[in-house]
Amino acid sequence: MTVTLHEGVRVRGLSRSFGDRTVLDRVDLDIAPGEFVALLGASGSGKSTLLRALGGLDPQAGGDLGLPDRKAVVYQEHRLLPWARVWKNVVLGVKGPDLKARAVAALTEVGLKDRAEAWPLTLSGGESQRVALARALVRTPQLLLLDEPFGALDALTRMKAQELVADLWAEHRPAVLLVTHDVEEALLLADRALLLADGRLAEEITVDLPRPRALDHPDFVALRRRL
Ligand code: ADP
Ligand code: MG
Repeated sequence: MTVTLHEGVRVRGLSRSFGDRTVLDRVDLDIAPGEFVALLGASGSGKSTLLRALGGLDPQAGGDLGLPDRKAVVYQEHRLLPWARVWKNVVLGVKGPDLKARAVAALTEVGLKDRAEAWPLTLSGGESQRVALARALVRTPQLLLLDEPFGALDALTRMKAQELVADLWAEHRPAVLLVTHDVEEALLLADRALLLADGRLAEEITVDLPRPRALDHPDFVALRRRL
């Protein structure tokens, strides 16, 4: 794996095998700065493997990876540490002055300013995921990697979380790769949707719809049928 600095994402020939099973087979992927890309694919198709490589977290991935310096990942499970207060979780591993103020600012952006001193175990699932988003935000990522971030949330909480991500993206404009099972979610949020199958990016759909998007828009319905 060769990693070089790049403004957006420029990946060439990304391959990853586990034993004799090739999960990613010479994948090329570009994400422009500020672009929102969704990645769809069946369970086990290699979405998380691809995301891990883009996070620079998989030294065994092969290929040339041009990646931005500042990356942040949000997983389906929030992975908050139960023994650290919410604000501390947000800035864990971050260096520099005014960490608490930065944590509170990020928590304010996700609507959780008043939970800064709370313990993670006292939060609901939706609140925990918002803390995970704050933890990503505080790193001012140029590339935000979201691995099925709303998968464990109930329908209403998921809708609110989707809206929040749309708002945060419009405000900060990181490049985003969102892994999701949910075609509607991909079309609601992304500029482009990619489909991963048999180790390759098999389909690419440009989502040229105005924002905010409506599920009953005829173009939306037509796009949905294609995926
Ligand atoms: P997805 O996120 O699309 O559901 P994953 O990227 O998690 O898929 O996994 C793709 C394939 O790679 C699966 O068959 C999975 O079992 C395999 N795999 C992922 N990580 C490992 C690992 N660390 N060791 C062995 N096999 C793995
Ligand atoms: Mg996965």
